[in-house]
Amino acid sequence: MADIIQLLPDHVANQIAAGEVVQRPASVVKELLENAIDAGADSIKLIIKDAGKTLVQVIDNGKGMSTTDARLSFERHATSKIRTADDLFHLHTKGFRGEALASIAAIAHVELKTKQEHDDVGNTIEMEGSKVVSQEVIVTPKGTSVSVKNLFFNIPARRNFLKSDTVELRHVIDEFHRVSLAHPSISFVLYNNGSENFNLPISNFRQRIVNIFGNKTNEKLVPVEENTEVLKISGFVGKPEFAKKTRGEQYFFVNNRFIKSAYLNHAIASAFDGLLKNGTHPSYFLNLEVDPQTIDINIHPTKTEIKFDDEHTLYALLRSAVKHSLGQFNIAPVLDFDRDPNLDTPYSYKSNTASTPKIEVDRSFNPFQEETNSRARAVAYKKEPATSWESLYVGLESKGNQTKQDFSEVHFESEEQTVSIFEDENEIKQVNTTYQLHNKYIVSTIKSGMLVMDQHRAHQRILYEDFLKNMTIKEATSQQLLFPLQLHFSKQDIDIINQLKDDLEHTGFMFSNISKESIDIIGVPVGVPESEVSIILEQLISDVENEVPDSNFSATDLLAKSMAKSLAIKTGQSLQKDEQEHLVNKLFACKEPNVSPTNRTTFVTMSVDELDKKFI
Ligand code: ADP
Ligand code: MG
Repeated sequence: MADIIQLLPDHVANQIAAGEVVQRPASVVKELLENAIDAGADSIKLIIKDAGKTLVQVIDNGKGMSTTDARLSFERHATSKIRTADDLFHLHTKGFRGEALASIAAIAHVELKTKQEHDDVGNTIEMEGSKVVSQEVIVTPKGTSVSVKNLFFNIPARRNFLKSDTVELRHVIDEFHRVSLAHPSISFVLYNNGSENFNLPISNFRQRIVNIFGNKTNEKLVPVEENTEVLKISGFVGKPEFAKKTRGEQYFFVNNRFIKSAYLNHAIASAFDGLLKNGTHPSYFLNLEVDPQTIDINIHPTKTEIKFDDEHTLYALLRSAVKHSLGQFNIAPVLDFDRDPNLDTPYSYKSNTASTPKIEVDRSFNPFQEETNSRARAVAYKKEPATSWESLYVGLESKGNQTKQDFSEVHFESEEQTVSIFEDENEIKQVNTTYQLHNKYIVSTIKSGMLVMDQHRAHQRILYEDFLKNMTIKEATSQQLLFPLQLHFSKQDIDIINQLKDDLEHTGFMFSNISKESIDIIGVPVGVPESEVSIILEQLISDVENEVPDSNFSATDLLAKSMAKSLAIKTGQSLQKDEQEHLVNKLFACKEPNVSPTNRTTFVTMSVDELDKKFI
């Protein structure tokens, strides 16, 4: 048979490599910013259009490139940063693989302008899908500007895979934060669609954090400092009371490079043990300095994961450094070795003597009789099991009003239940035998047997439909706050709130002012406690950022889902009888009671038939 193996042409190899390095506009941002830093720039501008889908441009005042280097920089494995494999373990630059520019040029239109300090003129090169389109001499300031336009223009599948502008911009900004936090001694500016989003002057680390996350951040920071032979730690952790519901502000930098590490994250979490409210995550901004020889950065193309020689020691050092800081700044409670008084015998019982438990036997109990009974029942109940919820209550006697509801008359428009059959208030008085199981499920009797409902999911469905209705008919009632509530957010969070303002107002929120860094709330939806407002908005912002856009994405729907999630009765909450009944009745008055807004099952049923089978 003929030989079939061929070497791939360069432009194909580059496109394949690009798949690893460039996933989205934010990956381009990362590579270009890192190149600018490696070039020794102290001023870097990032210009973005349409979340980077149309344009990502980075302008630096670094050392620039010679004519030959400018051309070579687009070749694969062309780098000025390492020469031998050994150099990989003495890295002092961000890049070293020499494939970023080659990869980017394979999948976008790239324009490079560059000039070295002592040259009179510079060079410009235009690339399109790995091909040089033009190369000319130009007049340009010292440094380099790389514009990447129309990302994935030649790979439509990848372009379609990109998410909404909100989501992609979020990724770009995340990347910008990571790089600019790691380099406070460089000034960074970010322009997005023509307006300046961030302007970060040269500063120290603390000021950089504050410049990015807002003035309010300053008072939340607790310094962490530790110097040992293997590891230097510096930076800040957030005070526990400011811990967030979302894992937004968690940053590790190893030798000025942002990295992700679930293991080290765990070290911090365990240092915060016992200090955080359930479900919240601490913020941290920590610089770790280690000998470059003890880490391997080359295990992942995007270089965000690294391998440490001695992870265990780092873990222990990090944990104790953070614990120490929290203790020193009086944040951790003083350890109390006293006995827990709750475990003592109450005073009034002290003189009582313990009584022996008595066993009572039911002498008339006949196990064989039970069995025959259940067999008989098993036969008697061999009917069609309930297949949809509307038949669940048919024929169920209501003890409360002694009326027998007959729903066999009710007609449905379609198989999906899109109409509420409980129009009449009286009809809702269906359920009066409920029981709460483990503060999580509501068990209730139904005609064919029993129903077990997940209280959190069911309530989400109820609230979701309520919110949707309010937003569509724009008639939500608002509850005025005695004092306006001021909440602080980052700039891009405020942007999101601005986008959702109208919908939020239709749920009952009222704003008196939305400024660059804060919002003033004067009214909230009825039933929303003031203390929950910041959590709801935080959750909402993170939901918007993580939203997976599809054709029927709507802000209204997202808002309704998010608020329902935040406000629904939680698992673990104990409910009164009437609350349990109300929940069951409200759920079945919903249009789609079977699933939560995120499509999870809200209840299951078990017929007496099925139960009987278990007792055979
Ligand atoms: P790497 O950064 O891994 O070396 P890149 O493909 O990102 O690979 O860049 C290739 C080379 O192009 C770099 O090694 C560097 O010499 C040069 N280069 C890229 N960007 C710049 C820049 N902004 N200023 C100066 N030189 C640059
Ligand atoms: Mg690079």
